Amino acid sequence: MAPVAPGGTIGILGGGQLGRMLAMAAAELGFKCHIYCPDTEVPAADVAAALTRAPYEDAAALAAFADGVDVVTYEFENVPAETARILAEHAPVRPGPQALATAQDRLTEKNFLAAQGIATAPFADVASAADLDAALAQIGTPAILKTRRLGYDGKGQAKIGRAEEAAAAWDAIGRMPAILEGFVPFEREISVVVARGIDGETAAYDPVENIHKDHILDRTYAPAALDAALADAARAIAARIVSALDYVGVMGVEMFLLPAGATPRLVVNEIAPRVHNSGHWTMDACAVSQFEQHIRAICGWPLGHPDRHADAVMTNLIGDAAGQWAVLAAEPGAKLHLYGKAQARAGRKMGHVNRLFPLGTRPPVT
Ligand code: AMP
Repeated sequence: MAPVAPGGTIGILGGGQLGRMLAMAAAELGFKCHIYCPDTEVPAADVAAALTRAPYEDAAALAAFADGVDVVTYEFENVPAETARILAEHAPVRPGPQALATAQDRLTEKNFLAAQGIATAPFADVASAADLDAALAQIGTPAILKTRRLGYDGKGQAKIGRAEEAAAAWDAIGRMPAILEGFVPFEREISVVVARGIDGETAAYDPVENIHKDHILDRTYAPAALDAALADAARAIAARIVSALDYVGVMGVEMFLLPAGATPRLVVNEIAPRVHNSGHWTMDACAVSQFEQHIRAICGWPLGHPDRHADAVMTNLIGDAAGQWAVLAAEPGAKLHLYGKAQARAGRKMGHVNRLFPLGTRPPVT
């Protein structure tokens, strides 16, 4: 398939910060972007050539949008299947429908990973209150009840410490189709941002360590402190996932690292079929960022090399933290990225800052 040449137009579903940073990377390669988003505030549209503001269910608007672009991609995983199907009649949609369907449903995702022989937390399907009792008998406690669909940043989840808490957890997640996961006694949370090109080539950035606050990513330390064999194993798992899905684009793969002596030591928590917050450090510590890598992949270009030329610590600016922009702008060596959002609501990702360190010298995780 011929690559999309510079001058072409990339359609992006979703208009948040990920779409914005994709559009900026696309511009650097000579592309234009057309954003499709129903929201009134669309940070991506500030840096894009065109915006269609319409619902994801508007078949006519979707068709007109896709007719005007060379390739369609998306910045969030909850693109409705019907939306993707309509778009695909008019333009290539990358990553494809298999990746969306797999990542949108925690049960499908876990079954896919298990079929690949990739370790996950123990899990059981919970479609009803009766299923939950059976699942608890099978999995034991502590466990986490998670809605199959539309969960993110800890939403749609309830921890079950003791079996008596089951009914409250079932109510807390709104009695939705769910899975019960055994609690993984992890030592650290890591992730791998991996890309796969149209020709099947894969490229994984170094595994990184992630620190969450209130269920939201707070900091990413690049690289994660892992011995070479474990780092290679993490990259290999990520590459296996994108290959098995015949994936095109960048994916974030979140993993739990278990303490030394555990078997296996790496357990996949979830996959995100898009650029990922834990890959923002690549903007300043790698020659080709995750955003450019995604654009390269979906346009049929060769992938960039994922080597890092510096260590990095990425800190998210959440809510009021972005009010510190003047202090951060004055900090030598700090690279500030702001998303152009007007309202700094609590929990809202407003920007991030990357701090770079010579290779092998990043500060310890705190
Ligand atoms: P998720 O939405 O699945 O990424 O879960 C959000 C966070 O909850 C993760 O980053 C973990 O800190 C924690 N968590 C999720 N699932 C498990 C599990 N099975 N065992 C232990 N902690 C978990």
